[in-house]
Amino acid sequence: MAVMDKIVIANRGEIALRIYRACKALGIRTVAVHSTVDRNLKHVALADESVCIGPAPGAESYLNVPAIIAATEVTDAVAVHPGYGFLAENADFAERVEESGFIFIGPRPETIRLMGDKVSAIEAMKAAGVPCVPGSDGPLGNDPEEIAAMARKIGFPVIIKAAAGGGGRGMRVVHEEKDLVNALQLTRQEAGAAFGDDTVYMEKYLTNPRHIEIQVLADQHGNAVHLGERDCSTQRRHQKVIEEAPAPGITPEQRAEIGGVCVEACKRIDYRGAGTFEFLYDDGQFYFIEMNTRIQVEHPVTERITGTDLIREQILVAAGEKLSFTQDDIQIRGHAIECRINAEDPETFMPCPGTIDAFHTPGGPGIRVDSHIYDGYRVPPNYDSMIAKIIAHGHDRASAIARMRVALDEMVLGGIKSNIALHQWLLQDPGFCKGGFNIHYLEKRLKERGGAEE
Ligand code: ADP
Repeated sequence: MAVMDKIVIANRGEIALRIYRACKALGIRTVAVHSTVDRNLKHVALADESVCIGPAPGAESYLNVPAIIAATEVTDAVAVHPGYGFLAENADFAERVEESGFIFIGPRPETIRLMGDKVSAIEAMKAAGVPCVPGSDGPLGNDPEEIAAMARKIGFPVIIKAAAGGGGRGMRVVHEEKDLVNALQLTRQEAGAAFGDDTVYMEKYLTNPRHIEIQVLADQHGNAVHLGERDCSTQRRHQKVIEEAPAPGITPEQRAEIGGVCVEACKRIDYRGAGTFEFLYDDGQFYFIEMNTRIQVEHPVTERITGTDLIREQILVAAGEKLSFTQDDIQIRGHAIECRINAEDPETFMPCPGTIDAFHTPGGPGIRVDSHIYDGYRVPPNYDSMIAKIIAHGHDRASAIARMRVALDEMVLGGIKSNIALHQWLLQDPGFCKGGFNIHYLEKRLKERGGAEE
């Protein structure tokens, strides 16, 4: 007997295919819900059933809550997996799913709401003993003098951030007191327009941190574990380009300590499912910035080094099962790196949708490719430009890098432009190969290379 009868995959692309595969391995039937331009997606062809939920624009299909609920009802499914992006961190959607009598494969709606507001998330994490960036401890008021005094106390530079912000938007760094009021007003306006909530808060701006995050998993019986960390410091415009696990230089003691803090926080907020605590790491200290209450793009690097299947665990936990392993069972083996392959110009980074006329995936020891594309597939212009993830695993970082280089050279992708050349260049970069660099490293190297950054 399968743990669940039928699951709706409320997403598209590689993550929809990944969820399909986990369901299939568990003997669970699947329903693919898709937009009109996505009829040709691989998981739509493979799923037991498919339902078209709207036209190409995400707002009318993958964000169309009534259409997704209706598709779940008409297909007699029992649960909805939201993947990442789209409705994955929408508390109202999770609530609608549960109120309609279905299982939402993710945390409880209250938890998504608590963590979705960065001010309330930081407050909850502080109370749970998680180290946070020194800051305003709550939303900023309207008294300029009070705010200036606070900034002086925290120490410049500071960063003004939108409580409802996401995707690297709604943030402004302030280096001097004279710029504070103006920056505050601008960020408020932007936040109001972009997120419908103009609440802002202040944090110390860490000038050269690394981005290190902790993967957690919690069941509905009070058990929680962490699966180590990932280093996602290879970023461009706050977007991750390469992720790896474990993070270079982090000792087993540091991992156990910060991981233990996250596990305790999960228990404290009664967390359910998979989640990620994002930290900035500076001068040997971890500073919490936000929690993602969903599966992440970079989850395969953790899967490779821990030998787990995180989507499978998400489904089992949602079905009410107890975690099948304890913290002591989780051992870290080797090193894994993930390159995000995007349909974009490698020089200008502009998305380049189009029809793929040749596709051959790399393989061999330690190589995993998560991708929905195939020869003849047309990449639509409507969605995120990521079309594949290559994950390389080796006994150490150097061997993972060596295998990734072979894989990138072997990959054949014709008909569209991609950032494969960017990855090939980065994987030969001495600083990248050394590891342990901060979040500005890629942009700095692009600038030195010239031409790519304005
Ligand atoms: P989002 O939800 O938009 O992704 P985050 O709070 O996760 O926003 O921050 C995204 C990125 O912005 C971080 O990875 C980091 O590069 C930068 N950032 C955020 N807060 C700070 C800070 N206090 N100091 C320095 N950089 C920061």
